This record gives sequence, structure tokens and C-alpha cells, in this order.
Amino acid sequence: MATRQKDSGSIPKFIVDHNVGKLAKWLRMLGYDTLFFNGDNDSQMVSAALSEGRIILTRDTQIIKRRVVTIGKLKALLLRSDNPGEQIKQVVETLNLGGHARPFTLCLECNKPLEERSKEEVKDRVPPYVFKTQEHYVECPSCHRIYWKGTHWQAMIKKVAVFTRISGEDSHRSMDNHRRSG
Ligand SMILES: [Zn+2]
Repeated sequence: MATRQKDSGSIPKFIVDHNVGKLAKWLRMLGYDTLFFNGDNDSQMVSAALSEGRIILTRDTQIIKRRVVTIGKLKALLLRSDNPGEQIKQVVETLNLGGHARPFTLCLECNKPLEERSKEEVKDRVPPYVFKTQEHYVECPSCHRIYWKGTHWQAMIKKVAVFTRISGEDSHRSMDNHRRSG
């Protein structure tokens, strides 16, 4: 039985361990707040997940066996594959993420919400050919990277879209038949 739950109120947040770093970037690319846990102490990751209400994504069966997970206090997903493509597919399908993906909203490196910038504001900070061809820019307030929907971005989002069937373009809701009610 598929356990698809419709929890339209809250958008899930994640914490991933060091084995699945690429998955973290892909989730951020889709707009999901994803913390990358760099330590090797599982207990720290578990307590971080609990205190911040994050879902653990891991390849580590020991974490899944923890009591806090088995009694349902903490949500954790055991990733079946080592392949990042399979991992993102499993996460998107299991947690039914397609409906509220918001590509282009989080910094891939820092996980911080990106802020809109006008074309004039970025004029001296992007290559001239980009400035000529792109109209929309966002900046990470933490690392100050400027993002635009250029070819690199499109290539990345296409790659993820292959696995998840989430469209990366502005019509990102079109793949999904959910209607917002209210
Ligand atoms: Zn950043």
C-alpha cells in the first residue's frame, strides 16, 4: 500500500548525512530546506533533526532502527540506492514532494533563501553575455553567489527532472494536477 499522505500545510525539511551529499544539493535545487550533516556522531544528527523538525535521509540502517524513529517520533527515510538519481526519485515519490517544489529559491551551497535582485544591481557582477541575455537574478545573502536561469542551471534541473518528473521551469506546477484551494 502506498502511504502517500497529503500534508499540504507544511513543506518538509531534511537533514542528510555525509554519504548522500549530492542528494542534498538536488533537494535544495528543488527548493527544499536541506541541512548537510558533516559530523560522524549520529546522535547529534538525530537531535538536530528532532529540534528542527527535519526528516533524516540516510543510507545508515542503524539510524532507522533507533527507537525515536521506530516509535514514529522522528521521521527518517532509508535510502535504498547509492545512486543520487535513484535517491532523489525515492525521496520525491515516497514523500510526494512533486506538488510543492519551488526550484530556484535556495542557495545550493548554503541552503539559504535566495533574494531577488534587479538587473541593474547585478550589472557589474555577472559576465556581460549573461547580463545581455538574462532578466531575472537572485543572490544568496550568505555567500553572495548570483544565480540566473542560464544553461548550467537548466542542465541541472533537467537532470533532476528526469528522475523526479518535476518540471524545473516556471510551469513547475503543470506536471501536477493538484489545485490550490484557498
Ligand atoms: Zn550561498
